[in-house]
Amino acid sequence: MSLSLILLNDTLRLHDNPLLQLPAETKAALVVLDYQAFFGTQYGIARANLSRLQQQLAVITNLKQQLAAYNIGLITLVGDRVQLISELARNLNATTLYCAEPVAPDERKALSELSAVLSVTQLDCNSLLGEPLRPRLSRLPDSFTPFRKQLEPLLRVSPPNNTLLPAEGWLNASLCEPYNSAFEQLVMQYQPALLQRVASEQDALTRVAKFIWQGRHILTYKETRNQLLGQHYASFCSAPLALGTLSVRQLWQHIVQFEQDIAANDSTYWLKFELLWREFFRWQFRKYRDRWFSRQGIKQAMQGQPDFSPPRLSAMQRNNFKRWCTGQTGIDFIDANMQLLNKTGLMSNRGRQNVASYLIYDLGVDWRLGAAYFEQRLLDYDCASNWGNWAYIAGCGNSSARRFNIEKQAQMYDADGSFVRAILQSSAR
Ligand SMILES: Cc1cc2nc3c(=O)[nH]c(=O)nc-3n(C[C@H](O)[C@H](O)[C@H](O)COP(=O)(O)OP(=O)(O)OC[C@H]3O[C@@H](n4cnc5c(N)ncnc54)[C@H](O)[C@@H]3O)c2cc1C
Repeated sequence: MSLSLILLNDTLRLHDNPLLQLPAETKAALVVLDYQAFFGTQYGIARANLSRLQQQLAVITNLKQQLAAYNIGLITLVGDRVQLISELARNLNATTLYCAEPVAPDERKALSELSAVLSVTQLDCNSLLGEPLRPRLSRLPDSFTPFRKQLEPLLRVSPPNNTLLPAEGWLNASLCEPYNSAFEQLVMQYQPALLQRVASEQDALTRVAKFIWQGRHILTYKETRNQLLGQHYASFCSAPLALGTLSVRQLWQHIVQFEQDIAANDSTYWLKFELLWREFFRWQFRKYRDRWFSRQGIKQAMQGQPDFSPPRLSAMQRNNFKRWCTGQTGIDFIDANMQLLNKTGLMSNRGRQNVASYLIYDLGVDWRLGAAYFEQRLLDYDCASNWGNWAYIAGCGNSSARRFNIEKQAQMYDADGSFVRAILQSSAR
């Protein structure tokens, strides 16, 4: 009997996961940790640091345990996804692959290669604009405001599908185990259990409950969202959304429910507004694909041939880039933000805008190096949100150049210097 492979890479969760509800008769749940994405380099910069790797190992391990409670096994592979999935399909006599529709160009390319050996079905599990609102890419506005104005009035986010898992038909844990040795070796070697904070499904759902329902922090989000440090100034949902441990539709429905049951104000609206930014970049990436990684981003792509040659740096720029990465530029506001990133894997949105502007305009460094460094460090790394925002500030994405006056920004958002002191003093200890 033929078997279906269900690739859960971008939906590492039980809730609102259409891939776990498929009617196929015999199914194998599968995750591939792509070697290039975690051990490769771009422009000489490692694509992931230890924390990002540990986080990925932790959330996959967590999903495996959750599925085991339903007697569903999880095959966990490490290496090149096209090669590994093709081999697995041969071994298991699988003819079909189901997966979440990706956004990142390398994931899309892998699926198109796989479609030569398997019948591939992609479901858009992580967007707000599902059918029938799926935008036509040829008509997709290239600026956020027209995108929002066009789609917001129509937006009816489909309710999350949280029906209980049908356990029949899945390969169980003991049938999956023979495939898992490389992954388990990585777990032994890199010890994800040592991570203090993990964006697992349970943690994400607890966070949503706290931010929206228990603490009602959502009611003041618009006023607090530009803060630089703290626990509740923003939702902190970016990492679970990026990893796929939280469904964006589920988050959206919580906000709508809160607005209906408790209160709706500018702040509750603003959280949805920010989720539309995430949505905007997702569709922009589907539209312009790998052009986003060219020197001139999508701007050049509209006028001529994209230039994919790697960034070139003078000796002075190389030195400046190094100081920026380590948070040693001598500009306290920049250094505190970069040191926070290096220590925690996170940085506020305000901080990200400022350090990006500083690297591009004050230090004259190619924006793609900043994006590559963020990719390595950010625990909420998301291809479209990261590269899209960097290109935006550099003026080669969906906006003209955005230069920030760092001194003014520091005065406005850290008037008493408490953020800078808290970070730089703790680093000095
Ligand atoms: C240079 C730069 C790089 C960035 N890289 C990433 C990245 O790799 N991954 C990532 O998720 N976000 C990225 N962002 C966007 C934003 O900074 C983070 O989403 C936000 O700081 C995460 O914190 P939060 O979840 O508490 O956000 P909240 O303020 O609570 O916002 C709620 C959600 O809205 C979405 N969102 C908010 N702002 C943006 C935005 N500007 N663009 C896209 N989505 C947004 C996120 O999914 C976020 O979780 C980047 C921004 C900049 C300026």
